[in-house]
Amino acid sequence: MEHNQEMPNRMDERFQHDNTDRDMLEKGAILQRDGTYAIAPHLPGGIITDPELLIRLAETAKKYNCAALKVTSSQRIALVGLQKDDIDAAWADLDMKPGAAIGLCVRSVKFCPGTTFCKRGQQDSVGLGSEIDNKYHGMTMPSKFKIGISGCPNQCMDSMMIDFGAVGTPRGYNVFIGGNGGLKPRLGQPLAEHQTPEQVLELLGRVVDYYREQANTNERLGRFIERIGFDTFKTVMLPEKSIHH
Ligand code: SF4
Repeated sequence: MEHNQEMPNRMDERFQHDNTDRDMLEKGAILQRDGTYAIAPHLPGGIITDPELLIRLAETAKKYNCAALKVTSSQRIALVGLQKDDIDAAWADLDMKPGAAIGLCVRSVKFCPGTTFCKRGQQDSVGLGSEIDNKYHGMTMPSKFKIGISGCPNQCMDSMMIDFGAVGTPRGYNVFIGGNGGLKPRLGQPLAEHQTPEQVLELLGRVVDYYREQANTNERLGRFIERIGFDTFKTVMLPEKSIHH
């Protein structure tokens, strides 16, 4: 997509802030209460089709005496309780690069099994989610940024509680924007209905471009929308009637 080709590098210096108190962003290592570290290998959609990968995760956890393997809310499996000096070796044994579980970036692209596996699926959330994950996971942002693609209105991926959410319906995806949890929870607002996967990608590209250009550091998308006004935001995102039905 044009948007992505024109985007700045994923690691944009403007947004490089280590505000995570002794986490090691470059190693994807998260400090634990007891001074050890957790790493959270990136497993798009939480779907593992090669059982060898699961075995490798287990063997690596065993080799470095991890305290636990932890399934995370971002569809990862974290290795918890690593010693600082073992982090590089653990990544090497896993044969994986550190994902973007922390920092000001696209932290997670969650997607559900949709029409691939789920009997309730109405859209191919795995296809759309995988494409989004490839393009955006780890991209630096003014604040943390989460994406949730659900294959039907059950919204198993919390699509209205997340910065950018899409919900599959028989007529396409409904897109919600600016949701978040945390201290000041915010429900996402409806941005567009009945979108094709291509239109969702187009919208996401616009949202990301505009947010990166206009938002302040640490300003979550929902707060940014509140500051500039939803109507203004919507007008910028949907200038053509062809996109907004
Ligand atoms: S959101 Fe719908 S399609 Fe996706 S896992 Fe839940 S029930 Fe299945």
